[in-house]
Order: sequence, then C-alpha cells, then structure tokens
Amino acid sequence: MRQREVVTVLATALVVALLPGTGAAHDVRVRRPLRVPDIAGYRTLQCDFHAHTVFSDGSVWPDVRAEEAWREGLDAIAIADHIEYQPHKDDLPTNHERPYEIARLHGDRLGLLVIRGSEVTRKMPPGHVNAIFLKSVTPLDTPDWREALRVAREQGAFAFWNHPGWRGQQPDGVSRWYPEHTEIVEAGLIQGIEVVNGREYYPEAHRWSLERRLAPLASSDAHAPLDLDYRLHEGDHRPVTLVLARERSEEGIREALFAGRTAAWSGDLLVGREEHLRPLIEAAITLENPRLRIAAGEGAWLRIRNDSDLRLELSGAGPTGRLTAPESVVVAAMGTSLLEIRAPKEAPTGTVRLELAYTISNLKVAPDTGLRFPVVVDVEVLPARK
Ligand SMILES: [Zn+2]
Ligand SMILES: [Zn+2]
Repeated sequence: MRQREVVTVLATALVVALLPGTGAAHDVRVRRPLRVPDIAGYRTLQCDFHAHTVFSDGSVWPDVRAEEAWREGLDAIAIADHIEYQPHKDDLPTNHERPYEIARLHGDRLGLLVIRGSEVTRKMPPGHVNAIFLKSVTPLDTPDWREALRVAREQGAFAFWNHPGWRGQQPDGVSRWYPEHTEIVEAGLIQGIEVVNGREYYPEAHRWSLERRLAPLASSDAHAPLDLDYRLHEGDHRPVTLVLARERSEEGIREALFAGRTAAWSGDLLVGREEHLRPLIEAAITLENPRLRIAAGEGAWLRIRNDSDLRLELSGAGPTGRLTAPESVVVAAMGTSLLEIRAPKEAPTGTVRLELAYTISNLKVAPDTGLRFPVVVDVEVLPARK
C-alpha cells in the first residue's frame, strides 16, 4: 500500500471510530463475565439481587441496570427499590412495578434474567428485607411489616435480610440478632441473608447463615452507576452471589436459592458453606506436575494452575519432614503459579508422598475459618549432583 493510501485508510478509520453508534460503540458494549467453573450437575451463575434505580433512592434509570449487569457478565439481577423510601417521588410518581418492567424489557433483549423484587425498608428489628420473585410489588406497600412479608411469601417470593451490620441501623457496625429474626425465620418468611453488602462482610451474618441454614448472599446494593463505585476497567467487580443452579433460568435460580446453594463473592473474598466452595475450587485448580524429582540439595517447582478469577491465598504448610515448602503462597487468578519444594543435602533418596496442609484463607467456610486445601505431591529424591 502506498503512503497516501495508508494515510487515507487511517483517516477513514479514525472518523468511523469517532462516529456515535459505529465502531467505538461496539467496542464498549462487550460482555465480560468473571471466570468461575461450573461444578458437577450445576451451572455456576453470577447474580446480584439488590440494586436500586431512580424509582427509589438510586440515580440510574432501570434499563441501565440491565445493560451494566450484562456487560459485567452477570446472569441475573433483581431490581429491589425501596417501597417506603422514594426521595424522587415529586419528580417521578410512585409506581412499584415500573422499575422491574423497564429493566426486564432491556434484559430480555440482551439475554439477561431480570427478576421482580423490592426492598421492605423498616427500622431494626427486623431492618431491611428484600423479597424477589414477586408477582406484584404493590400489595407489599402496607404499614405492618409482618403483613408485607406474609404477602411476599404468599406470592412464592424468596426473601432475605439485607446488610445486618449496616451502620445506618447499627452504628458500631456489629450485626445483632433480635427475637423478630427468630420469628421470621421460624415462620418461613426469610430464607437468605446478605453476608456481604457492597464492600462489607458481616462475620456474624455468615455464622447465622450456617446455623439457621439461610442462603448466604452478596449484593451490590448499588445506588449509583456501577462504574462510579467499582473500578470495572481495572479488574475490580461488584459483589456477586454465585448460584449453583440446575439450569440458567428464573426457575433454576429460585430452586437453588431455596435449597441454599449459593456463595458470596466480593473482591478476593468468597464466603459460603464448605460443601459448595470445595467443588468450585477443585474444578478451578489443576496440579500440572504432581510428581516431582528433586536432587538432594536442590529444589523444584510444583505448577498450580487456576482457571478462575479467584486469587487464592494459601497459608499454613511450611516444613514437612525432610522436605520444605513455603509457609504461604498466592495462586494467581487465571494463571499458573509456582510452589517451590526443596530437598536438603542430607535428604534420603527415594519417593515420598508429601501432603501440604494448606488453608485458603480468603475462602471462608465460617467466620474465622478458611477452606482446608491439602496439596498432595509425590516427590522422588535423587542423589545429590556432583
Ligand atoms: Zn437497605
Ligand atoms: Zn438497598
């Protein structure tokens, strides 16, 4: 190509790129899910069941919620505007059904599941409760919160206690369980609890989710556009609830939520029950060379591949018998990390099975308990090289 042609082509490309609705826009509207494996029998769906719009105290129109969630790679969202708190109602008349209808229309175009929900917004106790899979939000607009939760249950809703340690209601940030919570759990009026809301993790809520068999959830509780609160273009992401569903559908998600097959993912933290976290990690991690040969006085590297966007912080192994392994190691997201095992000069030759008793500290199966993650490797120690 001659130089003048090159200049013309570049100029044309630049003009096309700058035109609204052409090349530039297509580069922006891209879906990029977090990478996390499916497990046997289940799809691992990424969901956010708690976000606001201008119909309560949010600052985005509902279709924007669907668009941003689709771009972030979510499978499903619920719009959960406050029933009792509508600071924009002089500009936008009360209509409890509209935020869902608007978001749903756009979600349908993109293949994003949009679920009808609302936030029952009461003082503590019981605090704020989201009800999702509602047939209609309007009947929940009633003075008695017990009545609102009963109506939700009659509609077949899944309900969960929001942000139990929110400083707006608990100034010290500590979540407290009140008799009203025992009452609504025992009456079957809530089936889940936010263990993460925004950037906050509530250890007490995590413990209650285990003791009371409430599904642990992570929600954005977004009010602003998502990329004002999260550095989405720098690898940051909103908190998501991982839902282990038999199928990618509203009914699939509903069944999984009532069965409690969820985990809460926020930043580098994944919170849930061991029975759900373990298969996710086993599906994500591969030891590429589980048999090592090491000459006495030298070291070798075990290669740990991680096919997920979860960065794993392993700790707690350290020296084991005659061989040594690091006390802690980080397994990078979507990559292969090296774990060095060393044989001292005086190590006897022969094969030994090494069981490195690591714990993944950022995968919490209880408030102060990481997921045990033994790394097993067969090591053949060879005579020292001359
Ligand atoms: Zn709330
Ligand atoms: Zn909220």
